[in-house]
Amino acid sequence: MSLIREKDGKRLHVKSKLMGESLVSKSFIDSLEIAPQQRLFPDVCILKIGGQSICDRGIKALPGIIKEIVANRDQHKMLITTGGGTRSRHIYTIGLELGMPTGIIAKFGSSISEQNALMLATLLSPWGGAKIGHADVVKLNNYFAEDVIPVMHGMPPYDYFAIRPAKGRIPVHRTDVGTVLLADLMGSKTIVFVKDENGLYTDDPKKNPDAEFIPEIGAKDLMAMDQDDLVIERPCLEIIQNSEVIDKVQIINGMEPGNLTRALNGEHVGTIIYRQ
Ligand code: ADP
Ligand code: MG
Repeated sequence: MSLIREKDGKRLHVKSKLMGESLVSKSFIDSLEIAPQQRLFPDVCILKIGGQSICDRGIKALPGIIKEIVANRDQHKMLITTGGGTRSRHIYTIGLELGMPTGIIAKFGSSISEQNALMLATLLSPWGGAKIGHADVVKLNNYFAEDVIPVMHGMPPYDYFAIRPAKGRIPVHRTDVGTVLLADLMGSKTIVFVKDENGLYTDDPKKNPDAEFIPEIGAKDLMAMDQDDLVIERPCLEIIQNSEVIDKVQIINGMEPGNLTRALNGEHVGTIIYRQ
């Protein structure tokens, strides 16, 4: 790349495709040709263990899931992320009542999903479970070489910089979003959300007994349906749809033994949301 001085002699540029561009122009971004995104860790399965849906059930849910993760460790490289759950909702309520901004609420959420990551890593520690930080994701191959089962919290690290939503102040980018962002970074082929329902329904099955099960749906179609309630955080759909490397995510009922193993082995259990 060569250096170029502007005609008035003031600015020096390094010749490149982006030279002199604001990077804001829509037509410029449309016309820019870039290399396809590399998949950094295509064979690593990302498992999100739900906060409210799984971790909060404690002894009624976690031992079975730990057993299944351990039973699969020789066949699959797994990276585990965790949600926050009920304790997050408790502190969100208190914070919102006291007028806390979105960035403080998001920071609360991070520390609670981190508690659950510590708990899962501790439960998995006899089999190599270790809590890792977000920055350690580039070292995944080293962890797998040492038979470590890495566990990290799922909140994306926006923290104080969390983007406020159009309505209210609850951050919309929480642990499901953190997990799909991580999947986009890693280019993982297998992304499994372990929750407490069989997958996606037309409405919350806990509140609406007439809700119908949806075994498979495109992210774009699901966005267009604009459902009142969803089994994963809403911004996940746009991230999946815009991704170059996420083909699909799967939402399974982790309360049913065997489902996690089946999902890891590529079977269609639960709901698949795919990029259209
Ligand atoms: P997690 O703790 O894994 O983040 P959440 O409790 O936040 O899980 O979200 C999962 C819950 O979402 C389910 O247990 C279910 O009650 C609820 N839910 C809301 N809308 C839907 C829907 N359309 N389909 C399935 N579940 C839904
Ligand atoms: Mg949730």
